Amino acid sequence: MKRRTFLQALVGLPAAISFVPSVEASHKPDHRITPLKLSEKEWKARLSDQQFYVLRDEGTERAFSSHLNDEKREGEYRCAGCDLALFTSDLKFDSGTGWPSFYTVIKGHIDTSTDFKLIYPRTEYHCVRCGGHQGHVFNDGPQPTGERWCNNGVALRFVPKEQI
Ligand SMILES: [Zn+2]
Repeated sequence: MKRRTFLQALVGLPAAISFVPSVEASHKPDHRITPLKLSEKEWKARLSDQQFYVLRDEGTERAFSSHLNDEKREGEYRCAGCDLALFTSDLKFDSGTGWPSFYTVIKGHIDTSTDFKLIYPRTEYHCVRCGGHQGHVFNDGPQPTGERWCNNGVALRFVPKEQI
């Protein structure tokens, strides 16, 4: 039995699991990007309460609460904490989950970690510049990657192509 199948049987995990070691291994952060480090007080001044909750406290917004679910224009999705571009519109797809979803990320602009908040491990990802939590990655996305980067809309700022 494959290890993942065994784990799913053991703890009753759904088929789409979000502990994806292959993703953690293949998406390496670009260390040439200078980190942005602010104090908690500075972040609170810069972000809304909901942005702070997601980006700095690893919270999750309510499903279907983000207007970015329906955003179909061409453009970039940037980190709401530091404005680093994390996704482009051509990487987005409609997952039907209620969170903006992408099949990959802009190379080097995210970093991943393993999170144990829900007993079983999940692959969390965050902005490489400010460390702001963005979402979790799952293995049930569309081709060509099979990845589903499930992002909190409040952690992103959309910039239409004409304004880039
Ligand atoms: Zn950032």
